[in-house]
Amino acid sequence: MSVSPKGLQGIKTIRDFELADKVVFLRLDLNVPLEGGKITDDTRITASLPTINFALEKGAKLVIASHLGRPKAFGDKKYSMEPVAQRLTELLKREVILIEDPKSDAVKALLMGLKKTQVILLENLRYEPGETENSEEFAHAMASYTQIYINDAFGASHRAHSSIDALPRIVKNKGIGFLIEKEIQMLDKLMTSPARPYLAVMGGAKVSDKIDVIEKLMDIVDGIIIGGAMAYTFLKARGLSVGKSLVETDKVNYAKEMIARMEARGKSLLLPVDHLVTEDFNSGKAELVPGESIPEGKMGIDIGPQTIKLFSRAIQESKTVFWNGPMGVFENPAYAKGTFAIAQALAESQATKIVGGGDSAAAAEASGFADKMTHISTGGGASLEYLQGVRLPGLEALRPPKTSEKL
Ligand code: ADP
Ligand code: MG
Repeated sequence: MSVSPKGLQGIKTIRDFELADKVVFLRLDLNVPLEGGKITDDTRITASLPTINFALEKGAKLVIASHLGRPKAFGDKKYSMEPVAQRLTELLKREVILIEDPKSDAVKALLMGLKKTQVILLENLRYEPGETENSEEFAHAMASYTQIYINDAFGASHRAHSSIDALPRIVKNKGIGFLIEKEIQMLDKLMTSPARPYLAVMGGAKVSDKIDVIEKLMDIVDGIIIGGAMAYTFLKARGLSVGKSLVETDKVNYAKEMIARMEARGKSLLLPVDHLVTEDFNSGKAELVPGESIPEGKMGIDIGPQTIKLFSRAIQESKTVFWNGPMGVFENPAYAKGTFAIAQALAESQATKIVGGGDSAAAAEASGFADKMTHISTGGGASLEYLQGVRLPGLEALRPPKTSEKL
C-alpha cells in the first residue's frame, strides 16, 4: 500500500548544524555520464555545488562520496571518480584529494591535517560490494570519521545502500542538503496543492514501467496526455490498428480499464491523433500518417503535427504540468520533433512545470528549453517512486526514530 508523503517532516537540513571544523560526510549523486573517460554532462556536479559551497563557507572538513556506474571489481578504472575529482577541482578552485579506499586509515590521517584549501573525495562507493549490500560493517567504517552526515544524493535515495541507509542510521547528527530539499518541496507541492488545471504528460517506452505513477497521478490530476510508445497500447485498447508499433499486449486490458476510469471521473485523457511512422527504426526515415490508425507494417516513432497542436493547447490551458516520458524516439533527431515541441510548449506556458525521469530530463536538455522549466528532477527513479508514495530509504534513515514509526 502506498502512503501519503510526509515530506521532510522531522528531517534536519545542513543549515541546522554548526559546521565549523566538523567532518561532514556529504553523500552526493555525482553519477555522471562518461565517454572515454570524459564527462559528457556535468549537471549532477553543478547541481550539488550549492550544498558543497555552503559547507565550505561554514568551514567544514568535507568528505564527499558518490557512486558512479556499476563497477565490476574494486578499482575498475572505467568507473573511477578521477574525472569527477578533476571537474570538482576546477569548479571549487580547491585541491580535491581522491581516496582509493573509504575504509582505510588514510581518510582519518588526511582529515587530521586537512587544509582549508583541500577537500576529500572518496573513490566510487560501489568499488566496495558492501555499498549495494547495505553493509553495516562498511557503514561503521565510514561512520568512524563522520561527525555530521548530509545526504544530498536525491538520485540515489530510493536505494537502501550502505551510504544512503545503514550509515545515517548509525550517525547521530544527520540531515539533507539543498538539492534534496528542493526536490522534495517541488514533488510535495505537486502531490498536495497543485494549481489547477493539473495536467500529466506521460510518454516513453513502456506502460508497465509507468502503471504505478499513472495510478497515483490519476487521483490528483485533471487530465493526462499519453504519447510515446505507450500511446500505441492505449490506441489498441480503443480498437484502433497500430501496425507494428511497440504494444504491450498484456497491458491492453489495463489501458481499457484506465480509459473507462478516467471517463467515469470526468477527467480528460488525450492520445495522439496523427503519427510519424517508419518501416525501419534505424533508417532515420519517417512518414506522416494523418489519422489515428497506423497501417500494417509501419511503426509509430513520434507524434504528428496535429497531435503537437492538440497537446500544446492542453499544456497552454494548464496551471501545473508534470512531464515524464518523451513523445518519440527523440535520441534520433529525425524523431525528436514531437518531444521538442512539447518541451517548447512547456517553456512558453506560465504553468508550474516539473520534469521527472532520466530520459525526459535529457530530452528537456537536448531541446534547449531546460532553463525554462520550473524544476527538472535530477533523480529519475527516485522522483517517480516518491510521486507514487513510496518511502525513500535515504529520507527515512534521517528521521528521528519516533516520527518514522508513526508515519
Ligand atoms: P524516462 O526515463 O523519462 O522515465 P522512459 O525511460 O520511460 O522515460 O522512456 C524513454 C524512451 O522511450 C526513450 O529512449 C525513447 O526512445 C523511447 N520511446 C519514446 N517513444 C517511442 C516510440 N514511439 N517507439 C519506441 N520507443 C519510444
Ligand atoms: Mg528512462
